[in-house]
Amino acid sequence: METIKIGILGAGTMGKQLALLFAANNASVRIWNHRYQQNFQAEFERLALIQSRLGLLEKDKITAITERVIYTNELAEMSGCELILEAVKEDKVVKANIFKQLVQVVLDLRIIATNTSTLSITELASHTDIPDQFLGLHFFNPPMSMKLVEVVKGELTSDKTLQSALKILQLLGKQAVVLPETPGFVVNRLLFPMINEAVLLLSEGVADAKTIDSCMRLGANHPMGPLELADLIGLDICLSILETLVEETGDGKYRPAPLLKKYVRAGKLGKKIGIGFYSYRKRG
Ligand code: NAD
Repeated sequence: METIKIGILGAGTMGKQLALLFAANNASVRIWNHRYQQNFQAEFERLALIQSRLGLLEKDKITAITERVIYTNELAEMSGCELILEAVKEDKVVKANIFKQLVQVVLDLRIIATNTSTLSITELASHTDIPDQFLGLHFFNPPMSMKLVEVVKGELTSDKTLQSALKILQLLGKQAVVLPETPGFVVNRLLFPMINEAVLLLSEGVADAKTIDSCMRLGANHPMGPLELADLIGLDICLSILETLVEETGDGKYRPAPLLKKYVRAGKLGKKIGIGFYSYRKRG
């Protein structure tokens, strides 16, 4: 990838991995988070090491990759970026506030993209004064290995913005599918009814988590079961997605399973926290 400057907003599960993906493809990356993360550097290097163990990047390139990523708490540092990709909490109020601040402090905005899993691109774009330069780029978790990116056009996204974004995805070697705005896009509209149904099966006592996941791995040839996947995504993100699907479509078939709500309220958010449907905490 030619050296371009990319901005990432949010240094959570997706933000860090997206920073790694772009830096591994030679981009210079600025990553912003609203709260200072003391362990950012260590966590980023740990992620890079995992990717190298998986054979997705060469170990001797990790230092150079890390040096291409600058962590900041100043939104103004996003100036000069070819693309600013937002990956903060799946909450439209939180995202709207960030976009409003961004347009105030960065005066040379080119493309703003959101990694939202299901929120309206047109509504998020309305919080910027450049909705024609705004679109959805829905990367999947983990972005280093997942080939697909759903490219979602808002009502006012210009063709120039779309083409520029597609060019960047091409440099990353990603497979883009261009979609009009629709709740859940394609993948999550199909995936989340399944995840929700798996939580319902669990709460009805039909089978335990391991059995439900095994059924889908062995019987439907899925690489991972729906409850493992929910833990990987984050149960708070899963709940937000289902709530948005209900809100946007009015269709009760997406209503979140009460057990999912209970887990989120209890802070059992999945792998990122160490506990969800499974425990990831080391014993002893
Ligand atoms: P996460 O919970 O891991 O990280 C959320 C980030 O938002 C953190 O950096 C946090 O500091 C920040 N944040 C929280 N409250 C904030 C506030 N009030 N103001 C500013 N920032 C705040 O979430 P994630 O899984 O990285 O998801 C980020 C985005 O990516 C979401 O829109 C999500 O739907 C989308 N996404 C997630 C996945 C997944 O598998 N987790 C996959 C594709 C897309």
